[in-house]
Amino acid sequence: MLGNAIVTGGSGGIGEALCRRLAEEGCHVFVCYSSSRERAEKIAGDIGGKAIRLDVTDPESVRAAVETVGFCKLLVNNAGISEIGLFDSLSAEISRRIMDVNLTGAMNCTRAFLPEMIRRKTGCIINISSMWGQVGASCEVDYSASKAGLIGFTKALAKETAPSGIRVNCVSPGFIMTEMNSRFSAEDLELIRQDIPLGIFGEPRHVADAAAFLASERAEYITGQVLAVNGGMVI
Ligand code: NAP
Repeated sequence: MLGNAIVTGGSGGIGEALCRRLAEEGCHVFVCYSSSRERAEKIAGDIGGKAIRLDVTDPESVRAAVETVGFCKLLVNNAGISEIGLFDSLSAEISRRIMDVNLTGAMNCTRAFLPEMIRRKTGCIINISSMWGQVGASCEVDYSASKAGLIGFTKALAKETAPSGIRVNCVSPGFIMTEMNSRFSAEDLELIRQDIPLGIFGEPRHVADAAAFLASERAEYITGQVLAVNGGMVI
């Protein structure tokens, strides 16, 4: 799996694990950040990659990233945000922001990097969805909708681009210990843990291993799929 790989949200918990794992696989990794520049630069320094700013909601930022990176063989749409609250208590502005980052952001990046993949008839796209995109979560309605959208996007794009030699898949993580879940109290975490059949929380490396597999030649006949990494929480 040699070649350029670009990981949006590479400065986050799962993003960091993705960047480190893909570098182990021989990729030259572009560690993208939106605001966490120092963290991205540290990761890039460790793995011989490059940190670049990429706000997935900003067309100018996406365009600049394409100019810097050029052809990327692997695009991982990982950037994401979440917000917890009853659907009608969250503002339309928050709702729009979640869709902008999680779904439209992935579409923006894909639209920008896809033409060169099509021209070269090779490429791999991995979208990081969520188990809530598969089954829906109470108090995370906007988030669930955005992640369900990513699954639909993955399936449709896989059909459209397969004739061009491009594979598109999803990884659908369960409850992974990162900053995103730091809002939960110890009591809440214990209740959630009891709902996980394997009895432990996921780690970022679990998601990274699944993505590395989907990006590898071992997955050369796999496209349009959703690979769940959730300890059995959603089957
Ligand atoms: P995290 O640690 O909070 O990281 C989120 C990442 O998204 C950060 O790198 C952040 O960049 C980036 N980001 C936010 N807004 C952005 C924007 N406008 N443009 C570009 N990047 C932006 O979260 P995580 O747990 O690693 O989550 C990574 C992905 O996995 C997300 O899509 C999330 O929905 C998904 N996921 C997570 C879990 C979980 O339990 N943790 C479960 C299922 C799915 P900066 O810090 O540089 O701003």
